[in-house]
Formats: sequence, C-alpha cells, structure tokens
Amino acid sequence: MFQVNEKGFYGKFGGAYIPEMLYPNIEELQQNYLKIINAESFQKEFRQMLKDYVGRPSPLYYAQRLSERYQTNIYLKREDLNHTGAHKVNNTLGQILLAKKLGKEKIIAETGAGQHGVATATVCALMGMPCIVYMGAIDIERQKPNVQRMKLLGAEVRPARSGSQTLKDATNEAMRHWIGDPKGTHYIIGSVVGPHPYPDMVARFQAVISEETKWQLQEKTGKENPDYVIACVGGGSNAMGAFFHYLDDTDVKLIAVEAAGLGINSGESAATSVLGKSGILHGSKTLLMQTPDGQVIEPYSISAGLDYPGIGPVHAHLYDTQRAIFENATDDEAMAAGKVLCELEGIIPAIETAHALAVLEKIKFNPSDNLIICLSGRGDKDLATYMKYYG
Ligand SMILES: *Cc1c(COP(=O)(O)O)cnc(C)c1O
Repeated sequence: MFQVNEKGFYGKFGGAYIPEMLYPNIEELQQNYLKIINAESFQKEFRQMLKDYVGRPSPLYYAQRLSERYQTNIYLKREDLNHTGAHKVNNTLGQILLAKKLGKEKIIAETGAGQHGVATATVCALMGMPCIVYMGAIDIERQKPNVQRMKLLGAEVRPARSGSQTLKDATNEAMRHWIGDPKGTHYIIGSVVGPHPYPDMVARFQAVISEETKWQLQEKTGKENPDYVIACVGGGSNAMGAFFHYLDDTDVKLIAVEAAGLGINSGESAATSVLGKSGILHGSKTLLMQTPDGQVIEPYSISAGLDYPGIGPVHAHLYDTQRAIFENATDDEAMAAGKVLCELEGIIPAIETAHALAVLEKIKFNPSDNLIICLSGRGDKDLATYMKYYG
C-alpha cells in the first residue's frame, strides 16, 4: 500500500513526467533497476562496501541524558557516523554500483548545500569515474567548504546561472546535460525525488537504515518495533530509509519533520506538506510550493539541506493517507534543539537533523515509549551557522 506500483505511482503521486528526449534514459533505468539491485552479486558488493567503506552498521545509541530530559526513551540512529558524515552516501554508493552495471562511464549530479555533491564526488573517486556536479551559482558562494571538498575529490563543479541560481536550477541544468549526453552518463539524484524509478531506487538504498534499526532495537529492548520513528524531510530520503521497514507496521507511528523557516505563514519557509499543492516538480507529481499560476516558490530554511520546494512523491502519499504525521520546526526551534543535543549528549547534529530533534519539545511522549530519531548527519559543516546564531 505504501510501495510504488508498477506504473511508478504512490497513490496519486509519482510517475515520470519527463521530456521525450529523456525517455530512453529513464526507460533503461525502469526496466533494469530492480533486476540489477536484487541480483545476489550486486547485493554482495553493495553490502560489503557499506560495511568496509561507509562503516555500517551505524550504531543505534540510547541517549540517556536526552531521554531523562524528555521523560521517554530516545534511540538515535547514528547516520552522522557514516563516511562523509551523513546518510547520503548510502544512496550514492548504491547508484554508482548500478551505473557500472549499466555500463556507464560518467556521472552527473545536482547539489544544493553540497552534501549530495560531496557524497557523489566521493564514490566517483572510489570507482574512478569522471564526475560533474551542477550547483546554483549562489549556493557555490554560500557553501564554499563543500565546493572545495568536491574539487579536492576530483569532481568538476559547474555553476547553474539560470533562475534563482539555487538547487532547482542546478537540477534543471543536470537534466539538460543528461538529455544532451545520454549514452554513457548516469545521473545520480540525491533524494527520493525525480521521475520513477528514482524515488523507489533511492528508498531501497536508504532502507538499510530501518533494516538495521529493526535488529538493533530488538537487541536492546527485546522488541523490533518502536512506538515512533522520527526524521527530518527535505526531499525525504533519510526519512524514507528510517521508515521503510515499518511502513506496513501501523502500530509504529511515523513522524516527518519539515522546515518551517521563519514560520509557516511568514512567506519564508519550506514546509511543503502544509503549504504545497499538487503539481509536477522535477519529473514527478507531488506536493510543491507554488503560486496560483503554478510557478515554483523559492523555499527558505536556515538549513540548506531542507531548502527544497517539494517533497518526494512517497511522502506526499504518506501525508495524503495520514500514514505519517507531518510536523514542522522553525529555524529557532531547530537551533535550540541542536544545542540541547550538543550539551546533553556531546553530539553536534547537522541543522537538518536538529529539525527532527525539535519534535521532542512539541509532542508529549509517554515514559514507556521507544523513539527512534534518525540522526541524519553531523554538524561540522554547519559550524559557521551555529556560531553566527549563537554569537
Ligand atoms: C541532505 C540532508 C538532509 C535532507 O535530505 P533528505 O533527502 O530529506 O534526507 C537531511 N539531513 C542531512 C544531514 C542532509 O545532509
């Protein structure tokens, strides 16, 4: 009920709304991705690399002082301890292995904050494949350290100078590149967004998160199901990974947390489920923030990784069916929650992740509840923002 159907839809959302020129690329993926991913040899290589290169399984950590503060039981899934510092590498590793099986020789990607660009440049170096990353010209200015990382890793960073010169423009330019250079090129999309089969493909690569939490929680509590799974949502890949193996276990409540920026009604926000309407964004039908005549509204959040005008189609469906509870946190609420984690647990979270932690102030959990919070990434990249905020 929550998995993609054979046409690429999650309920009303999803599909592949693409220009005709992209049909051959997308069809090649649609026809081959499951066969390749499910093959034993692929799984063997993917699993081995997740273990030896990424450092999985990531720990499930019982956060005692945080649990005491909120009078409940909080388990942090430590994706921040992965190589490159976030969950994104689970997906880029999976996709580059798939690209190799398809005989591709070159990788392109889009990036906003630069985290997906770095995770892509990393696996391209690992596999010896040329890598071109499209990034909005404004984002290149805002996210210098990640641009430098990508270059050091051997990637070419190409500025997108159209439109607002941010993520959506970088995505448009990457798509344009792919149309012009389809044969030997694979486009690694960074979240559960884009035309089918990307949302499902990315979800499958990130599903390792909940696959692990099931046995890890069992080991710690004797139960494999928690009461809640909580994750932040930009496009929705860490959330989908954390939810995946619980989707059909309806006793597990799923909480998706979006960025409310300066406030839901401030005009400066990225809370797509509340503010969005159905439309087409980057090749799939989903909820997105748009003007009455369908122009995409620029999102805003203090965290660059949540600054996306849509959500993946699977999340639009989870919202529509009320399988997931959608919450949101403002910049201020996230920054406060991030500080709490620093001081109580000695963990500096990514500001994206801090939005998920902010839910602890908003919902009263029971003392017997077990919560899993996906700690999607570490906050080193956000040090300048933390310092500016806390002065
Ligand atoms: C990119 C990023 C996100 C948001 O992306 P999703 O696809 O929604 O997971 C969240 N947390 C961190 C640390 C990120 O780097």
